[in-house]
Amino acid sequence: MNFENSLSFAQELDLRDPLKSYRDLFHIPKVNGRPALYFTGNSLGLQPKTARSFIEQEMKDWEMYAVEGHFKDSKRPWMYYHKFLKDSLAKLVGAKPIEVVSMNQLTVNLHLLMVSFYRPTERRFKIIAEAGAFPSDQYMFETQIKHHGLNPDDTLIELKPRQGEHNLRTEDILKTIAETGDELALVLLSGVQYYTGQLFDIKSITKKGQEVGAKVGWDLAHAMGNVPLSLHDWGVDFATWCSYKYLNSGPGNVSGVFVHERYAHDSNLPRFAGWWGQEESTRFQMTKGFKPMTGADGWQLSNVNVLSSAAHLASLEIFDKVGVNALREKSLLLTGYMEFLINELSGEENIFEIITPKDPESRGCQLSIFCHKNGKMLFDALSSEGVISDWREPNVIRVAPVPLYNTFEDVYHFARILKEHIQKM
Ligand SMILES: *Cc1c(COP(=O)(O)O)cnc(C)c1O
Repeated sequence: MNFENSLSFAQELDLRDPLKSYRDLFHIPKVNGRPALYFTGNSLGLQPKTARSFIEQEMKDWEMYAVEGHFKDSKRPWMYYHKFLKDSLAKLVGAKPIEVVSMNQLTVNLHLLMVSFYRPTERRFKIIAEAGAFPSDQYMFETQIKHHGLNPDDTLIELKPRQGEHNLRTEDILKTIAETGDELALVLLSGVQYYTGQLFDIKSITKKGQEVGAKVGWDLAHAMGNVPLSLHDWGVDFATWCSYKYLNSGPGNVSGVFVHERYAHDSNLPRFAGWWGQEESTRFQMTKGFKPMTGADGWQLSNVNVLSSAAHLASLEIFDKVGVNALREKSLLLTGYMEFLINELSGEENIFEIITPKDPESRGCQLSIFCHKNGKMLFDALSSEGVISDWREPNVIRVAPVPLYNTFEDVYHFARILKEHIQKM
């Protein structure tokens, strides 16, 4: 599409947007009495208007039935609450329902999955990750490796972009995997890199890692609800994500995991267990002897945090309705429009550059703007005008136009405000 830098063009795109009605399903925060230009759905998604009534339903059932709410009388019996989330999650990651479950939080789940899928031996013990991974993931790697009595310096291989580049090339990732060969135990990367916004080639990387005999897992924190995924068909061993970023389920809300069907009946796979992972038929016999439920359910530890899962359910209902493919279609256009406007502004002076890949197939909706000068000043100026974006040291402004609730007009105004402040600089 040939984009134009004008308000009327942006408004025209909004008029023709088949998803335009979805914005109304969310509470848009206000700044200075006006709806914010909210571009931080990659950090905390907006509140679906239905979230409150879903939570209130559980408050009511708790009030009315107390412990009986686990079983029969409540609208959604708490005992089975995780099951109500399963089908929607499976659709979002391209999995079978047996391969997914919502539980815990993301970093907890990374640790639990490492217990099952990182099984270093004397020969095969190395892990490939990306350099500059999200700090929680870095701490997880470090402490897991030490837990096995190994030294992170000899164990963790961190992939870095080539000199002068910001993103990893797939060919370089595949080459490192091949070179590490039978020393490689695990590849664990983020699906979409939180800092650069790069979307990795999950399919090829998974295939290559498994070819050399390693397990391949994915941290999908920034990919879930952002880009279409086909974890089952890609043969991914395991994955985990959080629900409060693109999934709009509320601060700190429950994470989810994917474990490939090939492990569904493997009760010998090491794991840390809890009663909620125990076979349902014997869960309440309170006896010794852990027998995991089949599939991802067998990794659950604890009974469901129902109050917060209610908000998750409210949000997933919206994703069920809209479908991730329709979201992606709008997302390509919306992010493409933002990229076009930003590049027009940066012009010859090269004030900033977008370090997110230019190829739309190698990114989700986020753009990371690397400022060559005055970055923080620009960021603060944007904030004062009602733009909610985020700042990542040393000099990146991250903006994520989210197709569920952002408009082309939002994107236009973002660029207009950016322009005004550049002219003042
Ligand atoms: C957001 C994010 C986290 C956050 O972890 P929590 O356990 O949910 O606090 C971890 N890893 C990545 C890659 C993230 O983007």
